[in-house]
Amino acid sequence: MARIKTVFKNIYFSLFDPSGKDLLSLPERIKNDLSLSLSGDEKIVISMKTERVIYRAGSSKDSNTFYKAFAVLTSKRVILAKNSTSLKIFRDFQLSQVNSLLYEEVASKPTIHVDIANSKYVLSLPPGSFTEAKTFFDTFNSFLEPGKRENNFCSKCGNKIHTDSVYCSHCGKKI
Ligand SMILES: [Zn+2]
Repeated sequence: MARIKTVFKNIYFSLFDPSGKDLLSLPERIKNDLSLSLSGDEKIVISMKTERVIYRAGSSKDSNTFYKAFAVLTSKRVILAKNSTSLKIFRDFQLSQVNSLLYEEVASKPTIHVDIANSKYVLSLPPGSFTEAKTFFDTFNSFLEPGKRENNFCSKCGNKIHTDSVYCSHCGKKI
């Protein structure tokens, strides 16, 4: 009985638990399609399921909102793919286009802001998915040129700190 309960619990969590580790796995069908469409040395690095992605173009008529898209980081770009039975790309952008990256938590939702020359992406990640969001963000951040990375996390305790801080306000480490 306990085992059946565990099975159901696992099914339940894999379907509904926003902090389940499936948030970081790309469905096989999308992964396979994507692997075939990548060029030369481009590789899939990490992916994360999003709640909502807002794309704000320079002119607002080209702005879009995508729900439940997968954000896929490759070694060259970020692809926003539809949660679908095959690969459908909403948009993508090159890592070299990214001017800055910012992570913040808005009402228990991890949020990633990506600034590109004339546009901006706001990735709202599932509520409570802090661990996965941090993993995704840190990996994304590490693929940018050093000058464009967000560095305002304490290297000792991992808490967010102000960019101009000298000491971490959480653990006191000198920045
Ligand atoms: Zn600290």
